[in-house]
Amino acid sequence: MARVFNFSAGPAVLPEAVLAQAAEEMLDYGGTGTSVMEMSHRSKAFIDIHARAEADLRELLVIPKNYKVLFMQGGAAGQFGIIPMNILGDKTSADYVNTGQWSAKAIKEAKKYCKVNVVASSEDQNFSYAPPQSAWKLDTNAAYVHYTSNETIGGVEFNWIPETGNVPLVADASSHILSRTLDVARFGLIYAGAQKNIGPAGLTIVIVRDDLLGKAAAITPEVFNYKVQAEADSMINTPPTYAIYIAGLVFAWLKKQGGVAALEKANIAKAQLIYDYLDQSEFYQSPVAKSDRSRMNVPFRLKSDTLDDAFLKGSKAAGLVELKGHRSVGGMRASIYNAMPIAGVQALVDYMSDFEKKQG
Ligand SMILES: *Cc1c(COP(=O)(O)O)cnc(C)c1O
Repeated sequence: MARVFNFSAGPAVLPEAVLAQAAEEMLDYGGTGTSVMEMSHRSKAFIDIHARAEADLRELLVIPKNYKVLFMQGGAAGQFGIIPMNILGDKTSADYVNTGQWSAKAIKEAKKYCKVNVVASSEDQNFSYAPPQSAWKLDTNAAYVHYTSNETIGGVEFNWIPETGNVPLVADASSHILSRTLDVARFGLIYAGAQKNIGPAGLTIVIVRDDLLGKAAAITPEVFNYKVQAEADSMINTPPTYAIYIAGLVFAWLKKQGGVAALEKANIAKAQLIYDYLDQSEFYQSPVAKSDRSRMNVPFRLKSDTLDDAFLKGSKAAGLVELKGHRSVGGMRASIYNAMPIAGVQALVDYMSDFEKKQG
């Protein structure tokens, strides 16, 4: 078996122990004689899987009782439209912070449903930083304030939680949920596609405060209606059963590692290893402001773009894959989610150092 270190931004690396357990249980889950994939979502075995996944996620993020956890489909991008449909209520506008490609997509979609006020932006410096709270021009009449708490492509992460007064704060936390401790009570809604830091594609997690339920526009499809799904334990229709099962295994794995605080410590060490290396090197360069660098997604450039192909070819041969930057920005990007061991980051830094010596 030849496992590589996979730096993909998503779908991304999963803990090996989780994959091994899934393999072990593939043909016969818990003596049922069936795979989880083949089970009715109404069966006792699956309802237990679902309930344990939710309970473990609640425990990991210390989610208060007045928040619902929904297991939905349609991806984080689906939520770009599902959120305004559900929580605008009788308001006609929402505030958005524009920090890069994902927030731009969220803004574009929200414009179909309401007036969008872009209340802060980092466009002036090519989306390389998180606009400070003092630069946010919030509207107290907005239905909610939306921001992308970790920009997966640009590698910009908010390491602070914005203050929005009585206006609910909404975060697209797709690429850093569970990577750091989080005060959920500061948010109205947190959402994340699972395929970055949780599990397989096809599952979208929504954590929503009770008072935001019940405001959905009449045209909202039932499967995308938060209140309807909350009342049906996210099972108004067939949920993505296998993705929920794997996510549940990941949650159990996270608990075994010591929970989110322990993971955060490991993530800080991993990020420091690579950023320290980038900073002392004249050959590599990080485009992101130091204070706002993502612990999960690390974009970097080589001294010359003409070396990119050689870098990627050599890294692949060294068992380090998916390092090519997003097609829109070029360069490199190393995504180092929870499931990436520090040995993988060390192997990457060693390779970068060798490459620099040969080419620099
Ligand atoms: C990947 C990503 C998305 C899109 O997720 P899908 O599940 O593909 O819809 C949205 N926002 C952020 C921050 C992401 O990283």
